[in-house]
Amino acid sequence: MITVENLSKSFWNRNGTVVALDDVSLDLTAGGALGVVGPAGSGKSTLARLVSLQERPDTGVVRLDGLNTATLDTRRLRATRRQIGFVTKETQLFKQRTAAGNIALPLEQSGVDGPLRRARVGRLLDLIGLTDKAATYPDDLTEGQRRRVAVARALVGEPAVLLADDPTAELDTDGAAGVLAVLDRARAELGVTLLLATQDTAAVRRICDDVALLEAGKLIEHGNLLSLLRDPRSQAIEALLPSVEGAASVHQDRVADVVLVGFAAVGALLPEAASRFGVQVSIIGGGLSRLGETPVARFRIGLRGERADTTLGWLGERGAIVHQQPAAPRSVAA
Ligand code: ADP
Ligand code: MG
Repeated sequence: MITVENLSKSFWNRNGTVVALDDVSLDLTAGGALGVVGPAGSGKSTLARLVSLQERPDTGVVRLDGLNTATLDTRRLRATRRQIGFVTKETQLFKQRTAAGNIALPLEQSGVDGPLRRARVGRLLDLIGLTDKAATYPDDLTEGQRRRVAVARALVGEPAVLLADDPTAELDTDGAAGVLAVLDRARAELGVTLLLATQDTAAVRRICDDVALLEAGKLIEHGNLLSLLRDPRSQAIEALLPSVEGAASVHQDRVADVVLVGFAAVGALLPEAASRFGVQVSIIGGGLSRLGETPVARFRIGLRGERADTTLGWLGERGAIVHQQPAAPRSVAA
C-alpha cells in the first residue's frame, strides 16, 4: 500500500520560492478512498503528482508496498508507475480512436492483445456505463462521458491505486455524478484504492471514507470521516457538513451542536427527546447531509425546559454527538 513520508516540494517562479508541499505524511488505506481537500493552491495536485510518481519530491519518500520509490532507476520507475492509475481534468483522449480504442491503448503499448484485451476493455466499458458507446469517437461524447473513458483507460492496466485529480472539475451536476459513480464502482468492484484530490466537498462526502485537509502545503488534518465527526474542532468536518452558525431568536436554557448519524437518529431522535423530557427543542442552524450512503445531520439546537441537561445526556446515550455551546445570557429586556 502507499505511504507518504515527510514529502516536501517547492517551485520557483518570478516571485520567488513557492512551497507547494511542506512535510506531508499520510497513508492510503488499502481499498479505501481518501479525499484530499483544501483551497486552490494548497498543494492537492502536487501531492497527487508526487504520489503517482509523475514527479519527484525534494525531500521525503513515497513507499509502495514498503518499496522506497526514490531508489528506483528509470526503467523500474516506469514499470512501477503502471501500478498507479492517474487521471486529471486535463487528461486527453485520442480523437482518432474510439472510446474502446482509447481504453485499449495502454494494453496495446504493453503488448496485451487478443481475447484478454477485449475482455478487459469490455469489462471497463461496462463499469463506466458506456458499452453502447464503444465505437463512438471522443468528439461525439459529452465531456462527462470523455472523463469516464479517461478513468477506464487509467484502470485498464489493473492498477492497485487510482489517483484522480479534480476529476469532476467543470462538469455539470450529472456529468460530475457520473464520474463519481465510476470512481466508486472502481473501488467496490475492482478493489482499487482511491485518492481523490478535489475542491468539491460533495464529491468527498459521497465517495470517500478518509479525508486529508491541506492548507498552504501543510497537512492540517487527516482521518476517517465518521471518526472526525466526533471532533468539534475538526476543520475538515466544518468544511464538509452544513454550517451550524445561526442566531437563537429567543432565550434558550441550553445551546448545543449535535451530530446525528444514520436514518433512525436523523429522523426521530430530536422529536423523541423533546416529548420524552417535556423540553422545547428548536433548530438554530445546520442541516442534513450524507456521508456515502449514511445520512448525517448536524444541527445547532436550543433547548428550553427544566430537563434540558437530562435531554442532552439522553441524546448522547442514544449515539448523538453532543457538544454544548454557551447559551446567550437572558437579555435584561426580555
Ligand atoms: P492545488 O491543486 O491545491 O490547487 P497545486 O498543487 O496545484 O495546488 O499548487 C500548490 C502551489 O504550488 C501553488 O502555489 C502553485 O502555484 C504552485 N505550483 C504547483 N505546480 C507548480 C509548477 N509546476 N511550477 C510552479 N509552481 C507550481
Ligand atoms: Mg489542483
